[in-house]
Amino acid sequence: MVKVTGEMLIGARAIFGSAGQLYAFDPVRGVDLEPVFGGADVGLVNLACALAESAFDAYRIVPLEVRAAFLEQIAENILGLGDALIERAHLESALPKARLEGERGRTVGQLRFFASLVREGGWLGATLDSAMPERKPLPRPDLRLQKVPLGPVAVFGASNFPLAFSVAGGDTASALAAGCPVVVKAHPAHLGTSELVARAIQRAVHECGLPEGVFSLLIGAGNETGAALVSHPAIRAVGFTGSRSGGLALVDMAAKRWEPIPVYAEMSSINPFFVLPGALERRSEALAVGLADSVTLGVGQFCTNPGLVVMIDSAKARQFVEIVGEAMAKKGSQTMLTSGIAVEYGRSVEKRVGASGVRLAATGSEARGQNGARPALFVTSASDFLTKNELGAEIFGPTSLVVLCMDEAQLADVARHVEGQLTCTLQMEPDDYALAGKLMPILERKAGRILANGFPTGVEVSQAMVHGGPYPATSDSRTTSVGANAMERFLRPVCYQDLPAELLPASVRDDNPLALWRVRDGRLMRN
Ligand code: NAP
Repeated sequence: MVKVTGEMLIGARAIFGSAGQLYAFDPVRGVDLEPVFGGADVGLVNLACALAESAFDAYRIVPLEVRAAFLEQIAENILGLGDALIERAHLESALPKARLEGERGRTVGQLRFFASLVREGGWLGATLDSAMPERKPLPRPDLRLQKVPLGPVAVFGASNFPLAFSVAGGDTASALAAGCPVVVKAHPAHLGTSELVARAIQRAVHECGLPEGVFSLLIGAGNETGAALVSHPAIRAVGFTGSRSGGLALVDMAAKRWEPIPVYAEMSSINPFFVLPGALERRSEALAVGLADSVTLGVGQFCTNPGLVVMIDSAKARQFVEIVGEAMAKKGSQTMLTSGIAVEYGRSVEKRVGASGVRLAATGSEARGQNGARPALFVTSASDFLTKNELGAEIFGPTSLVVLCMDEAQLADVARHVEGQLTCTLQMEPDDYALAGKLMPILERKAGRILANGFPTGVEVSQAMVHGGPYPATSDSRTTSVGANAMERFLRPVCYQDLPAELLPASVRDDNPLALWRVRDGRLMRN
C-alpha cells in the first residue's frame, strides 16, 4: 500500500522540504493528521520548473498514442491506490466516502476522456490553405496551421474537489493532454490526498518512459510557494480554482512578470436560478424541495451552488419560499472543508442576517463541531438587491438569497445587474418561453452555461460543456475548465508558410499520416 510520507514529488525524486512544516487537518475531529509535510523553498520551486522546462520539448513531440496511454496509465494508477486514497481524502475533507468514490470515478473518467481526445487529434486544429501561385495581383503562399502547447503549466488545486479539481484534476489532465508539463501546488486542505495522487502520476511518468519533469508536486507553507511558481520564467500558463482574492493575486503576479502569462482562474459565482411564473404555478413543491437539496448539497461548497433565486412576487412565490425554508430547516449541520471556509461562511451569513432589507427565512439545525455550517435561506426585494451590491456577492456554503421582483421588467433588471456567472438556470414551462426569450440575450452576456429546468450543481465532462464565464466567475471568459475545450487554454496556433514538406509537422503534411480531420481549403475532410 502506498503511504503518505510528507514528501514533495519533484520529477522522479521524493523530497522532504525544509521551508516550514505543515500538517493536514481533520475537520471533523479538529486534529492535525500525521505525517508532517515539509514546505518547498525557492530552490525546490526552481528545480521543479527547470525539470518541467527541460521535459517540454521531448514531451510535446511524443506520439499522440504515447501521450494518450500516459493519461490512461495515470487513471489506472489512481484506481490502484484503492481505499487508501478514499480514506485519506475523507479524513482531510470530511466529504462522504461515497461522494469521494464518485469523484474518483469522475477524475479517472476525465483522464480517459482527454486520452481519447488526444488520439482523435481535432484539438490540433490542423488547417491547410493551398498555395495560389497564379492569383492576381499577388500569389497566395502555402499556409498550414496547427496548435502547439504553451509550455509548463502551474496548477493550483481546488479545496472543494480534492480529486476531480486537484492534482490529477481537469486542469492537470487538459494541460498534459495539450502537451504541457505540469507543476502542481498542492492545496493545503488535502496534502496527503495530493501526495498519493502525485505518486500515481509520478509512477505513470516512469512507466511510460517519459522525461521526469513532465510532472511535479510542490507543497508550500504560505503564499510564497505559489507566488514563486507563478513568477518562474519557465511557467507559461496557470490553472486555478479557489477564492476571488487568491485568483486575482495570481493574475496580478502573472501580469507583472517580465513575460506576462495567462492565468485561467475560476473564482466566484452565485448561479442565478430564475423561477418563471408557469414553472412556479405547476411545479412549486418539487422545485422547492429540489432547490433546498441543491443549495445544501456538499455543504453548499460547489462553485455552481444556486446562491440566488429570482422570481416575480406573488402569494405563490411566498408560499414557495416557505416550502424551500421548511426543506432547508430539516437539513442538519455538516462539516465544511476547512476552518477558513467555515469561519468565512459564518461571518458572511451573520452579516447578511443584519443587512437592511434582508429577511432570514429559514435556518437548518445549529452548526455543530469545529467546522460545522448551518444552512440559511434569505429573502429580499429586487429594489434592495439592485441598490445593495453586497447582496450579489458569493457566500460559499449552504445558503441562498431569494429576490422577489415586482414584475417581468424588474426580473430582467436583476438579470442585467448580476455579475458574471458560471451558470444561469431558467425554470420554465412553455407559457414562460416569451419571458425566457427576453432573458436569453441578457443571460448569454452573463454566464458560461444556461440551463433549462435543471439544477446547476453537477457539471458533465463532455465536448460541449462550458465551465467558465465572465468575470468574476473566471479571469478569462473565453475558455472553460471542464470539457474538451479546456485544452484550448494551453495551446496556441502556429502557421507554417511555404515550408518544405520535410520540415512540416505530421498534422499538416499532405499525406495526413495521423489520419486527422482537417480543414483543407475551407472544407472539413480526412485527407
Ligand atoms: P484559496 O484561498 O483561494 O486557495 C486556493 C489555492 O491558492 C491554495 O493552494 C492557496 O495556497 C493558493 N493561494 C491563495 N492565495 C494565494 C496568493 N495570494 N498567492 C499565492 N497562492 C495563493 O481558496 P480555498 O482555500 O480553496 O477557499 C477559500 C474560498 O475560495 C472559499 O471560501 C470560496 O469562497 C472560494 N472557493 C471557490 C471555489 C470555486 O469553485 N470557485 C472553490 C473553492 C473555494 P496557499 O494558501 O498555501 O498559498
